[in-house]
Amino acid sequence: MRDVVIIGSGCAGLTAAIYAARANLKPLVIRGLEAGGQLTLTTLVENFPGFPKGVQGPELIELMQNQAAVFGAEFMEGHVTRVDLSHRPFVIETESKTLETRTLIIASGASAKMLGLESERKLLGHGVSTCATCDGYFYRGKEVVVVGGGDTAAEEAMFLTRYAKQVSIIHRRDQLRASKIMQERLFHNEKIKFVWDAVVVDVLDVERGEVTGVRLKNTKTGGEAIKECDGVFMGIGHSPNTSLFRGQLDMNEVGYLITHDGSKTNVPGVFAAGDVQDHIYRQAITAAGSGCMAAIDAERYLEEQGTGNRDEWLKAP
Ligand code: NAP
Repeated sequence: MRDVVIIGSGCAGLTAAIYAARANLKPLVIRGLEAGGQLTLTTLVENFPGFPKGVQGPELIELMQNQAAVFGAEFMEGHVTRVDLSHRPFVIETESKTLETRTLIIASGASAKMLGLESERKLLGHGVSTCATCDGYFYRGKEVVVVGGGDTAAEEAMFLTRYAKQVSIIHRRDQLRASKIMQERLFHNEKIKFVWDAVVVDVLDVERGEVTGVRLKNTKTGGEAIKECDGVFMGIGHSPNTSLFRGQLDMNEVGYLITHDGSKTNVPGVFAAGDVQDHIYRQAITAAGSGCMAAIDAERYLEEQGTGNRDEWLKAP
């Protein structure tokens, strides 16, 4: 039986691992399907304190993971398929193992949202992408569109200008949601064009098995038009990875875990950190901070409960 299992290996999970490992709790980090989290899908991170010249997202994650390992955190590949939080110890199942743990820190993050179009799903990986850093390289000299008006879309668009001939941002309103600094960069980049007040209603061409364009609908006039392009990048935000916990943990109407008094969930001994419980700030540094809080909360919980052998512990109130 483990003292601490951490689900997720992004900023929140790894910071929790550093703190729990330094508290001698030998945490086990289950790395998950999108190991390393969203920072591994990004490039230069300029707002993480301590890096005045910025740091590459994947490098930052690697540094955090190494730091956790130095203090004795253990890592396991794979993802969790089922959890049972109805009794102690909690049971965590992965594809290959069943684990028991006294405390659980959930840092399973959030994943890129899609528009929900059938054509988008069929062409995913064939011209439709949710990650410019992963797929941008394939669009050297080509024309791409980025859907969305927030920082994610802005970052994706900026990154794509390294390769693509032209990047068009398709936004459903006529004002961006992205931070001012990102907006300035977009407006000053001559490879970037904007299509305002437009939503993608279809991605073409499913029959050919490749992207040749998008059908757009003007949100003000209702008129439709086709914009030719070779790739479509979705930058419309993220949704939390919480389906495993449905019915077991309190969550809000869109699935973010609800925490109280720091990182506590409604089940004592289960804590949540990072984007899985934060729909407001969603920054690397806030995720890291909440990972720290979760590890401290887990440590205090274990102190109250004692970490004696399994039978003694199960008898504890
Ligand atoms: P976001 O701020 O929620 O923006 C999502 C964008 O997609 C919005 O412009 C939204 O339009 C649009 N959108 C959402 N659903 C849509 C749909 N079904 N069809 C068409 N458009 C749709 O999400 P985000 O950009 O992922 O950013 C999330 C948080 O992470 C923010 O706090 C952001 O600052 C942060 N972030 C920071 C950085 C950085 O600092 N480098 C990078 C990435 C993200 P509306 O504007 O009309 O709602």
